[in-house]
Amino acid sequence: MSGPMFSLPVNEEPPELCGSYGGYQRHGRLNEEPCQPCREANAKYIREYRRQSGPLARHRADQTARRRAHQALAKRYPGEYQELFCSELAKLTDTP
Ligand SMILES: [Zn+2]
Repeated sequence: MSGPMFSLPVNEEPPELCGSYGGYQRHGRLNEEPCQPCREANAKYIREYRRQSGPLARHRADQTARRRAHQALAKRYPGEYQELFCSELAKLTDTP
């Protein structure tokens, strides 16, 4: 057998450093809580994005943000989320 017995994993991803929008997205892909510099970079990116786009784009961004926040909360508080979900579902499906 030739060649090395082991190889180091090669990181082929472009550098997505903390404190950049790419860094923020990287945290998301890795299911990590974004760090403060990344949050700030993301907020700045969104501010720029909104400034360049109209109300409709802003509305879509709001919806996306709301959905993501919702998912993050559900992940952070699975028990509470499940409880609320069931109670709301019960209200909707409660037939007299
Ligand atoms: Zn970061």
